Amino acid sequence: MSPGVRAATPAGASTGRGQGGLCAASYRRRVPPGEPLRRDEVDHALARRAVLVDLRAGRASTTDACDASPYLQRAAKEWGRCTPRPCPVCRREPLWEIAWVYGEALGDGSGTARSARGVALLARARPDFAVYEVEVCQGCGWNHLLRSYRTGTPGTVAARRSRERAT
Ligand SMILES: [Zn+2]
Repeated sequence: MSPGVRAATPAGASTGRGQGGLCAASYRRRVPPGEPLRRDEVDHALARRAVLVDLRAGRASTTDACDASPYLQRAAKEWGRCTPRPCPVCRREPLWEIAWVYGEALGDGSGTARSARGVALLARARPDFAVYEVEVCQGCGWNHLLRSYRTGTPGTVAARRSRERAT
């Protein structure tokens, strides 16, 4: 996914408050204060379910579906969070969630992994960027995009500057 995985927070740092059920079923969760604004949010639960249905029906192979790169697995373990949800493929390991951020405004930080807290901090400092939240299994390598959205906190200095530059 990215040639170089770097973190916004020191290794071992807490990813912050527990966020409760982040599974697809609780997608319409309330956004607690401090979380960045989410624009153009896309829930990828349907696509995820389709892949799992194909896997169980034998129409897709685990070789294709469980192709997590070592970078993704390592980033999830270092800076992501372990969920209580079991892997839907191997059913042995818990799923980890990690966010990847992309955007011109991030410079060298584009294409790097972030903790949930890291995304929130970044959104306060930087204008518009894209966030891709991914789930990954450390055991079998299952991985899938969960959600994607754009952030950028209106009213922040960075957002104002960004808007002024654009006009
Ligand atoms: Zn698994």
